[in-house]
Amino acid sequence: MKKEIPKKHRNDIILIACVLLVAAVGFVYLNFFRSEGNTVTVTVDGTEYGVYSLSENRTEDIYTGGDNQHHNRLVIKDGKAYMETASCPDGICVAHKPVFRDGESIICLPNRVVVTVDLADETETPDIIM
Ligand SMILES: [Zn+2]
Repeated sequence: MKKEIPKKHRNDIILIACVLLVAAVGFVYLNFFRSEGNTVTVTVDGTEYGVYSLSENRTEDIYTGGDNQHHNRLVIKDGKAYMETASCPDGICVAHKPVFRDGESIICLPNRVVVTVDLADETETPDIIM
């Protein structure tokens, strides 16, 4: 014998299902279509120096050149990365606005330091398994 669900309850279930669906779509949207990158890769003279998470506030001192005579201080704060100080004469990297979108970069030409924002590989650490 089939048990009938009262109409009032059935409407509640539909409402809950709709709310869950909207929440799920929003969650998927945020995870797959956001434009914020999650790591910054630092390269010095074309060689990878380090990869840092944008979700963690930190200060990284980068020393380059023969006797480490060049210095760049990279700061990651509130999901954005910027060059706080640098020994380069032009100061372009320090004047650059904070970067946080995928593909954005800060380049310090005199010190050969490049900071690039990258999206983490979704296939490596999936947030959702469908
Ligand atoms: Zn610079």
